[in-house]
Amino acid sequence: MKRRAGSFNGNGSGKRILVAGGAGFIGSHLCDRLLESGHKVICVDNLLTGNEQNIRPLVNHPHFRFLKQDVCELGPVDEPLDQVYNLACAASPSKYQADPVHTMMTCIRGTSNLLALAENKKAAFVQASTSEVYGDPTEHPQRESYLGNVNCTGPRACYDEGKRAAETLCFDMRRLGRVDARVARIFNTYGPRMQPDDGRIVSNLIVQALTGEPLTIYGSGEQTRSFCHVADLIRGLTALMNVLSAPSGPVNLGNPGEFTINELAQMVLELVITDSTIKHMPLPIDDPRRRRPDITLARRLLNWQPQKPLKEGLAETVDWFAAFLHRSDTPRSA
Ligand code: NAD
Ligand code: UDP
Repeated sequence: MKRRAGSFNGNGSGKRILVAGGAGFIGSHLCDRLLESGHKVICVDNLLTGNEQNIRPLVNHPHFRFLKQDVCELGPVDEPLDQVYNLACAASPSKYQADPVHTMMTCIRGTSNLLALAENKKAAFVQASTSEVYGDPTEHPQRESYLGNVNCTGPRACYDEGKRAAETLCFDMRRLGRVDARVARIFNTYGPRMQPDDGRIVSNLIVQALTGEPLTIYGSGEQTRSFCHVADLIRGLTALMNVLSAPSGPVNLGNPGEFTINELAQMVLELVITDSTIKHMPLPIDDPRRRRPDITLARRLLNWQPQKPLKEGLAETVDWFAAFLHRSDTPRSA
């Protein structure tokens, strides 16, 4: 059934939702999903690491609006809101370290501004936190009760400590009864629309394999990560936003399958016909050695678990990058 443009009164299923960071990799998939579900979406993004291409198919959608704004200087939003998702923050280490002070401010001032907006509009709030709050974990797998092992002065701290402070803001606003805030601790996520120059492991390996460049492995490659397909993650984020009884603490969202970086590189080499070799490079400072989510809470509270196996999701992501790189290579006619 077609929805009327004027039917967004907060009483029906069509909600008014603000997505900060909605032009990014995860945020643009979230905007897609929310629009498909009949909601009205305001996307706020300064396009620091996001891309207008990600939201180009949405700009003519009658229920989509894009505001190019930095969340650190968030302007007034002149319509009612039912929900606010905060995904605004560069997520790739090379990107968030490029301007570390801005990254920290995005996490603190940006989150504070968005929480104030949610309070003002009486909107529910979901914060995109991260497994980086666990730092280089000494407990494995990581449960939400683990307090983490973060170096607060290292090059990753602007992000890790910024995200920890953002969680503090969320839980304080909630304890004060001012915002219905919920926090997702997101583990490494991959899929279509990662930026080819993003610097993250999945995008780097796939682009390198497709272009015949050496696959860069930092350190021994025996460090591990757990990779969740973006479609699975989006289901988790919306489940967290919509669950009636808000979880009392943060909730891990990730795929418990754990792989070494060497294993991931081999999987990519099996999926792409390429002459690429492996090139070892120095391990970045404070690079976590192991990472795997315990998702018992998400299973119990949200009835959520990832469905897409890594091999299948990687194959789909390889296909997307192949098409993307081909399009970028194709000269455009005038
Ligand atoms: P991304 O870099 O693709 O998206 C982030 C978006 O936020 C971009 O569109 C960027 O332009 C925007 N942004 C950054 N700073 C901003 C600011 N000050 N004001 C307005 N917009 C701003 O990253 P992503 O992978 O889509 O990550 C989205 C969120 O999920 C981030 O908050 C990230 O910390 C979190 N997260 C992601 C992962 C992952 O593996 N991708 C893992 C854990 C947490
Ligand atoms: N990594 C790598 N080669 C690359 C990019 C990353 O070996 O070209 C390693 C990186 O050192 C880390 C892991 O892959 O151990 C995941 O890196 P990513 O930047 O994707 O995410 P994060 O470190 O934030 O989990």
